[in-house]
Amino acid sequence: GYRKGGYHAARPGDRFAGGRFVAQRKLGWGNFSTVWLAYDTLLNRFVALKIQKSARDYAQAALHEIELLSAIAKGDPTNSKNVVRLLDHFKHAGPNGQHVCLVTEFLGDSLLRLIRYNRNKGIGLSRVKEICRSVLVGLDYLHRELGIIHTDLKPENVLLVSTINPSKDPVRSGFTPILERTVTNQYSGSVISFSEKMLKMRARRAVAKISQRRVSLGGVAAEMEKDRSLDGVNLKCKIVDFGNACWGSQQLAGEIQTRQYRAPEVIIGAGYSYSADMWSFACMAFELATGEVLFAPKTCQGCSEDEDHLALMMETLGKMPKKIASSGTRSKDYFDRHGDLKRIRRLKFWPLERLLVQRYNFTEPDAQGLADFLRPILDFTPENRPTAADCLKNPWLN
Ligand code: ADP
Ligand code: MG
Repeated sequence: GYRKGGYHAARPGDRFAGGRFVAQRKLGWGNFSTVWLAYDTLLNRFVALKIQKSARDYAQAALHEIELLSAIAKGDPTNSKNVVRLLDHFKHAGPNGQHVCLVTEFLGDSLLRLIRYNRNKGIGLSRVKEICRSVLVGLDYLHRELGIIHTDLKPENVLLVSTINPSKDPVRSGFTPILERTVTNQYSGSVISFSEKMLKMRARRAVAKISQRRVSLGGVAAEMEKDRSLDGVNLKCKIVDFGNACWGSQQLAGEIQTRQYRAPEVIIGAGYSYSADMWSFACMAFELATGEVLFAPKTCQGCSEDEDHLALMMETLGKMPKKIASSGTRSKDYFDRHGDLKRIRRLKFWPLERLLVQRYNFTEPDAQGLADFLRPILDFTPENRPTAADCLKNPWLN
């Protein structure tokens, strides 16, 4: 929370980096940070300002993120690899401590929002393909050119971009940024303080306007509800949040990824590599197509979330090869010597293609196309999974 070591409580109109950046409105938050829309008064553009929690571990993580994002920017001078661009960074002293701040290009809504806008019904296969292509270009760059594993790929961490870029042109975006918390009345010369409520209202209107243009998918649910047709909108997106990312050569944490997107090798403690991102990618693609998460494990009587997760995987993808099942430091917790789960005995096999037809009403050809694309990526054997570059060559995407 907003206490010592925690989040920095910013308000619209607050200034950062010696006055250069002015906070406009909160865009989102994660476990580590709050992210604000800010106005860059030096270069007259809107940017995203990620304000990290102040405790030492968070600051460390932010510095690590800066290191990775700097390498990412350096290797992609034309900013065309679909990964968020770092523009600046600095420290900000607040009442809760020192906060490392990252300034990045301002992007649109997350894929999570996109999924919700579509009332969890899926966004249509042609749009799924467009987004998959975008994300794969980013992953291929990270994996093959830079040697970076993202380790937390999920819909929240992929943001939409539009081809229009009003952040460079605030006049065209129809919005004057908030620059001060006070204004001088030009007639009486007296100073008027904006009330907190007024500032919030202005900020909300502003973001609505910017995002309306920026991503035709709106920044506000209401806009999206009105404009249900996404036809002709070219969906592009970028990967964000490198707070947990690592170099392929030096993996730190044993447990990575957000639960639903976690690869089997991570669960059983068998180590991981770039292919763990590919697993998350496939889970995300399924979710875009159906509006529901592929694996949503729960703790059940006498079994852990991990075990339920493994059971769900096997129900959809078939039995895990014994060699793989026994290869992790935690294998013995979950599997017996035959390679069967110890506590969940009866599995109901429901393969991907059948799931898509019977539960999500896909036509046979659509289900087959998507399942044929996803199944190889969801291989229990990490080395067998296609790379991002391999996937980009898949005719299903083209
Ligand atoms: P955390 O490491 O705390 O999860 P993220 O980098 O994922 O932080 O950012 C948290 C949220 O803030 C994102 O899910 C997104 O909604 C929003 N956000 C982050 N970066 C941007 C950006 N460049 N443009 C617009 N919104 C952003
Ligand atoms: Mg995040």
